[in-house]
Amino acid sequence: MLRDEFDFIDKIKPIKTNQKALIKGIGDDSAVFKSSSMFDELICMDTMVEGVHFTRQTMTPFMIGFKALAVNVSDIAAMGGIPTYYLVSIAVPKDWTEHDLKEIYEGMSQIGEQYSMDLIGGDTVSSKQGLIITVTVCGKVEEGTNLFRSNAKPGDLVFVVGELGASAAGLELLLKNGLSYTYSTHEKMLLKQHQLPEPQVEAGRILAESRENIALNDISDGLASETNEIAEASMVDLHLDFEKIPRSKYIKNYPLLDQKRWSLFGGEDYFLVGTMSKSTFDKINQTFDQKGIKLSVIGDVTVGSGEVYLTHNNKKEKLPKRGFNHFDKGEENGKL
Ligand code: ADP
Ligand code: MG
Repeated sequence: MLRDEFDFIDKIKPIKTNQKALIKGIGDDSAVFKSSSMFDELICMDTMVEGVHFTRQTMTPFMIGFKALAVNVSDIAAMGGIPTYYLVSIAVPKDWTEHDLKEIYEGMSQIGEQYSMDLIGGDTVSSKQGLIITVTVCGKVEEGTNLFRSNAKPGDLVFVVGELGASAAGLELLLKNGLSYTYSTHEKMLLKQHQLPEPQVEAGRILAESRENIALNDISDGLASETNEIAEASMVDLHLDFEKIPRSKYIKNYPLLDQKRWSLFGGEDYFLVGTMSKSTFDKINQTFDQKGIKLSVIGDVTVGSGEVYLTHNNKKEKLPKRGFNHFDKGEENGKL
């Protein structure tokens, strides 16, 4: 329970700032920062609700803070941007201590510092039920960059940055065993992908700096959902080859059906999916190689009406936006 909101704000107020353009951070009615010519401003927001997106059995307060900021930074990465500032609204129930809340801010600060971001404001209110944390992130990207999901063109390749499935596998372990179970080193890697996802800012920057026509999404709701969004927004069809979809090496000794479920519908890996021309791929492939970032071609784009198809064992099927057997990730993700 928070006794003194102002005392609390004082405690979480950053002692130093990173962004030169910041004029006024926490402490007035609104934050003030200089906008930059040459850049377009980016802004996004995501909310995490206790009991819907996390529970105290699956995430520590530090992890909740880290992830609440990471998922927003991931949205900036999916626009090819540089994250700059963040604001945090928290609705706090009685059973959360000030110590818990400070840990949430430490989690955010860890990733915030990694990207030289500044915490510039927020709001603190009470909640009658679970904890609700809403983070807004500002970012910037070179003027004219547009890594929009509506950019896919017939003839393009479909690509994935990173490897999929570990986060959903980690969540299943956590839901079964909880936080304090003794996990193997291998299982811990699955948990980490779920609890402390790394947004792909560096990959987004390479794609933005190429100045090429690229469609890009971060994989928050699962590959099936994200590819369908690109197909719909671009009014084209995407054809994916299951064998080419990069699966996390940490899920490879689980049954294939689980691997398929996790890598296609699991989501929350926060890697990237998109489309680009073959010549763009040939141009930037090497940069990804040099930086040690995995870039995989998983299919292609054709003229169509906004559908996604998946080929596995020579069988081609329509890939639904979400839903696979008994795993309705949509509901689990708090989506309406
Ligand atoms: P106001 O009444 O002007 O909304 P508040 O008392 O809500 O002011 O907030 C005071 C300052 O502290 C503002 O700069 C606000 O952005 C910041 N702030 C309030 N709550 C939080 C929070 N949970 N995290 C970060 N900054 C916060
Ligand atoms: Mg306020």
